[in-house]
Order: sequence, then C-alpha cells, then structure tokens
Amino acid sequence: MNYDAVFAQQLDGLREAGNYRVFAEIERQAGQFPRARRWVEGAQVADVTVWCSNDYLGMGQHPKVLDAMHDALDRCGAGAGGTRNISGTNHQHVLLEAELADLHGKEAALIFTSGYVSNWASLSTLASRLPNCVILSDALNHASMIEGMRHSRAECLRFRHNDVAHLDELLSGIAPDRPKIVAFESVYSMDGDIAPIEEIIEICEKHGALSYIDEVHAVGLYGPRGGGVAEARGLMHRIDVIEGTLGKAFGVMGGYIAASRTLCDFVRSFASGFIFSTALPPAIAAGAAASIRHLKDSQIERTRHQNRVRIVRERLDAMGIPHLPNDSHIIPVMVGDAHHAKMISDWLMEHHGIYVQPINYPTVPKGTERLRITPSPVHTDRDIDRLVEALSEIWSQCALARREMAA
Ligand SMILES: *Cc1c(COP(=O)(O)O)cnc(C)c1O
Repeated sequence: MNYDAVFAQQLDGLREAGNYRVFAEIERQAGQFPRARRWVEGAQVADVTVWCSNDYLGMGQHPKVLDAMHDALDRCGAGAGGTRNISGTNHQHVLLEAELADLHGKEAALIFTSGYVSNWASLSTLASRLPNCVILSDALNHASMIEGMRHSRAECLRFRHNDVAHLDELLSGIAPDRPKIVAFESVYSMDGDIAPIEEIIEICEKHGALSYIDEVHAVGLYGPRGGGVAEARGLMHRIDVIEGTLGKAFGVMGGYIAASRTLCDFVRSFASGFIFSTALPPAIAAGAAASIRHLKDSQIERTRHQNRVRIVRERLDAMGIPHLPNDSHIIPVMVGDAHHAKMISDWLMEHHGIYVQPINYPTVPKGTERLRITPSPVHTDRDIDRLVEALSEIWSQCALARREMAA
C-alpha cells in the first residue's frame, strides 16, 4: 500500500475545490500590531497589516500582559512541570481560575490548554456521564463542541440556528426526567450574529435543561467587565456553564469553563482532556490573568474597538462592498466562491500588504466563501482607508457585484 499516494490524492481533491489551506507565515512584532513581518520560503518580505486576527483588542502586546509573563517566566521557568494532578498545578493557575470565576460571577472556573479542549472535554464529560443525557445543539456550533458531543456518544439533536421555537419543540418531545444539555454560542464566529440568549435560557428553564454557552468570541469584548454578551445582557447568573478562551480577545492562550463549584469539580475529576495533559505554562496563566484583570476595569479598548468596527462598516457600505450585517465586531465580506476568495486574498497581500485570510468550506457552507475582517483598536484611520480602497479596486477589477450604494 502506497500510503503517501492516498494522502496526495485527497490533497489534490482539496486543491481542485479551492479548499487547500495555505498558511501565511508572519512574525508578529510586539508593539507594532497590527503590523507584522511576512516570510516567504525562508526570506523576509514586505511588512503586512493584519486584518484577520482574533487578537481582537491587541492585548497580545499589552505591557501589563508582557510584564506579567516576563515576571512569571523568570521566577518559575518555562513549563508547568506536569499535569494538574501530578505536580503541575502552579500558583498562577489557581489565581487565574479565581479571576475567571469572578469575571463570570460563578463559584468556580476550570482552565484547559485551549478553548477547543475546554469545549471538547467539558461537553463530552457532561453528556457521557449524565445518565441517558440528550444534547440539543445549535446547527452552527463550533467544531470543538460538535466533536465533544460526538465523543460523548449521547443522543444529539440539532436545532435550527438561533431558532428558539425549534429548540422548544425538540425539548417538548423529550421525557421530562431525562438530563438535557443545550449547547450554543453567543457570537457566532463566521457570521458574527448573536444568539437570542435570554429566550434560549427561558426555554432551558422551562424544560429543566442545563445551559452551556460558548462565549469565545465575546469574552473581553462585551459587558462592563468583559464578561461577554451574557454579562452585557445581565444573564450570566441564569446560565449554567460559560465557556471561553484566553487566546482571542485576552491575547494569550488557553480555554476555560466557569460554573458551579460542583460542576467544575465534576469535569476536573472525570475529563480525560483535563487530567491527562500537561498544565499551561505558569507564564501563560499569569499573562492571561493580567489581561483579564486589565479588561475588567478598562473600557478604552472596548470603546475604541466598537468605533473601529463601525467605521469599517460605514466605509464598506459607502463603496457598496457586500458584508453581512450583524450586531458584533466580525465583518464578513461575502465573496461566494472559494477560488475567488483566495485570489482576492492573495492579491491584497501581494499588492497592498493587507492580510485577510480567505474563509472556505468546511468552515463555512459552499457558496458563502468570504473574507472575515476583524478590526481592532490599533487599526488607524489610514489603515482603514487603505483596506477599503484596495477592496474597492479589486471589486472593480473582477467585476464583483456591489450592493446598492448607501444613500
Ligand atoms: C476559536 C474557537 C474555539 C476554540 O478556542 P481556542 O482557544 O482557539 O482553542 C471555540 N469555540 C469557538 C466558537 C471558536 O471560534
């Protein structure tokens, strides 16, 4: 058996469909974000402006975060030294979990090595260990949740995206005494739309279901202390499990859940993906805690972020560049074809030093390929001018459809 031939054939299939992923190699410059160096085949080429980062607030270069990381690195060394169970629980992990529990107004929090692992480990553990559990999953949930639910082997019912009536209908058909978990997101990462959280909670309360929300694209960004959309809407206390990442708006790395002390203890005790994996380095935990602490008090980053998002949208509207309207900070510029999306992205990079990664199937459905633009507080007016002018130019060159010009 020629294994490589089998692999190569499937890779060719991806290339033909325009879905083969090419990673842009950049070198981030602390203090210069959104500017980064770009590397091509071992050589450094022109600097680029990054327009697709999930370091939404630029916290990855914040002096308080870097100071906390330098300090912990120098005092504690590089790695955690073990799993949480066997010598790896460092003081910084305990402090970080306390910071997160406080952020979400919960009794406890539990950290994981990534948001992906937190979803995968928590949902698979909860759903497999609650006897005869049923999971109700929003149709657009992230891969990390889907994999966790699948791994649990529990029955899983998909409700139509953000469709509260459908969720209610599905729950009504389940025996009242069966354990139920409703898993959904607040801000959906690719369309940027926001769930009707209060209505979903009401349905959960009506049917006695455990509510599990992924606030990965909202923590740090929404709410007076950066607790997410549930905080902004005064709903955190009515949600059973809040899951988040430390790698996006908080600018570092790691994931977590915040919930009751007993639920966190349960996941801590039974989740394989928590127990059998080396703990985050103390410097990472210290940096994340510094970032969370800063964003609990500081509104400057959130205010400026929202301002940048509004201006990019207005400028795109004025040029008739089609983008999905939503209430979040994610601006999906719709292209609708995988090859086109990649070509536009390549052209922006080569001719304008603008880096926006194309988003293709299976991340989004075929025919909805897009450029996902994420403005940050550190993008200047000049950066915005250059982005919008470049997009307008390529839209004309390729005769791509424009929307009616804004009045
Ligand atoms: C990115 C993402 C995750 C995973 O978080 P990481 O910390 O990057 O592993 C989970 N859920 C959603 C919706 C995401 O977009």
